[in-house]
Amino acid sequence: MSSIEPASDDDPFEAQRERVDNPMARLVGEYGRPYWLSVTLGILASLAARLLDLLPVILLGVAIDSLFQRVEPFELPLVPQAWLPSTPIDQFALVVGLIAAAFITGAAFHWLRNYGFNAFAQDIQHDVRTDTYDTMQQLDMGFFADKQTGELMSILSNDVNQLERFLNDGLNSAFRLAVMVVAIAAYLVYLNPQLAVVALSPVPLIAIFTYIFVKTIQPKYAAVRSSVGDVNSRLENNLGGIQVIKSSNTEAFESGRVDDVSRDYYETNWGAITIRIRFFPGLQLISGAGFILTFLVGGLWVFSGSGPGPFTGALSTGEFVVFILFTQQLVWPMAQFGQIINMYQRAEASAERIFGLMDETDALEDDTGSDDLVVDDGQVAYDDVRFSYDDEPVLDDISFSVDGGDTLALVGPTGAGKSTVLKLLLRLYDPDGGAIRIDGQDIQSVSRTSLRQAIGYVGQESYLFYGTVRDNIAYGSFDASDADIRAAAEAAEAHDFIQNLPDGYETMVGERGVKLSGGQRQRIAIARAILEDPALLVLDEATSDVDTETEMLIQRSLDDLTTDRTTFAIAHRLSTIKDADRIVVLEDGRIVEHGSHEELLRADGLYAHLWGVQAGEIDSLPQAFIDRATQRQARTETAEDD
Ligand code: ADP
Repeated sequence: MSSIEPASDDDPFEAQRERVDNPMARLVGEYGRPYWLSVTLGILASLAARLLDLLPVILLGVAIDSLFQRVEPFELPLVPQAWLPSTPIDQFALVVGLIAAAFITGAAFHWLRNYGFNAFAQDIQHDVRTDTYDTMQQLDMGFFADKQTGELMSILSNDVNQLERFLNDGLNSAFRLAVMVVAIAAYLVYLNPQLAVVALSPVPLIAIFTYIFVKTIQPKYAAVRSSVGDVNSRLENNLGGIQVIKSSNTEAFESGRVDDVSRDYYETNWGAITIRIRFFPGLQLISGAGFILTFLVGGLWVFSGSGPGPFTGALSTGEFVVFILFTQQLVWPMAQFGQIINMYQRAEASAERIFGLMDETDALEDDTGSDDLVVDDGQVAYDDVRFSYDDEPVLDDISFSVDGGDTLALVGPTGAGKSTVLKLLLRLYDPDGGAIRIDGQDIQSVSRTSLRQAIGYVGQESYLFYGTVRDNIAYGSFDASDADIRAAAEAAEAHDFIQNLPDGYETMVGERGVKLSGGQRQRIAIARAILEDPALLVLDEATSDVDTETEMLIQRSLDDLTTDRTTFAIAHRLSTIKDADRIVVLEDGRIVEHGSHEELLRADGLYAHLWGVQAGEIDSLPQAFIDRATQRQARTETAEDD
């Protein structure tokens, strides 16, 4: 069966991603602009902090030559001679003071740099996340039907977080690298251009080496990520189906499968690790070679007092020490060069997915209607409505009307299209042809907000948000008073069980809260609908999930709710809808019968047979009905296997 196979590697957002040009420029241009002050602060502070980091080494070089060895006059780069003290002890004090000042102001600038870059990254991350979510909410149900929740979650969390890493760590390291390389190279060239060539010779080599490393390891990382995905799917699948595993005694089989995917992950990851663990020793060798070369040339130079080989001029001990220390300081930022490229590429891929989703206009719920729906009687008419999911026709020639205040029941076998009829009323989808009118207004010409405000919905699965019982009842009617909420709960026959919960109306329910039974959840959903007091009501198998006794309780609360309110009801158990003013029977997306319960029984068609099944009269059903039922089941099963 397909559901047991791990998720495929195909990117479900490929089409969206391909439409996006220059995602990083857009990220920084569009989302970064309001925060230019933070990032400018970050950049300037970074520049200052990095330059101050270099000062102690420069001062050490000066101190060696002019204070300890006294071979050079006391001079500081960029500082006029007249400002400097004349006695060696004062000069020494100045050097110590300057080094201390460099450390203290350096620390302040490091703080400012981190503050600026972090604020920039967090602000952008927040804006991108909320904008992406807002866009996602506007997309139509068709979009959600063929995307897995996990994929959308991963854009909202992983991809958005990936941006933060680049905007904070990536930008930070990139500036550090740029400032260090430029400033150190400039100072070394200023001190001694000839030895600078020797000392800086590993820099391009390190850059090339790192680049090759990144190129080699990237595909390995992609494979590792995909194999992590396989492990996660397997574990998620198994934990979700743990009850089936235990009851089928397949623990050993499943352990074997987990072992397989985990082994795959191990091997793929090992491939990446063997490359990664060569990188730092390799880097050390290159920089070590550079160090030895500089030490050798510089050392001989200082020894003999004149340039060895082709080198000319003089080199002081202080300059030599500065060369050695500075070339060492270059290695670590250079080693991050690869990581910066990596972070950039990952951020780019994430930004592509994020903007791909934000630009998704094909799936936007089109909201052409500008007028507000005005419900008077609450009369609803379907006029020759046709609809298909993707290319699969589901409804054809659906025409019926229901008078204001009446209850219309939709009946038919599973997959006949009953829920779809109601989804069209809520404009979760739009019909391919025909029209649906409420009090004469085409629902496509009115605003979606006013339409959905007019319709209360109690579905098959009453979803509870994580929050209190009270919040769940008042969901959508946020300014309801406690008295209103309680009255709604009483009308929904929910008040008694709510009072028995640990914290009454303040009990936390939903995903991480107290577990409620299907019937209890259903009654909270009904209380929610009662509180909303909508003009029209949709009950989609509102009592499907409950036992007969609870059903009776719910039925009583529903009776209150549906009097004088146009109501659409889908019910699996026909006993619950037999009093409906009108019953429409669907089969394979078409209306095959309609009328009242008695009329339909007399007609002795599909409805009468379904009624017979529920009354336990299986033996007296005509063979033709049983054959059709078997065919239908076969069709639904094939569809589910696809
Ligand atoms: P009913 O409520 O009568 O059981 P539905 O309206 O749920 O029937 O479904 C009618 C048909 O449309 C079924 O064949 C079902 O498989 C198909 N269908 C329902 N929802 C979707 C969807 N989101 N995408 C594609 N096909 C769907």
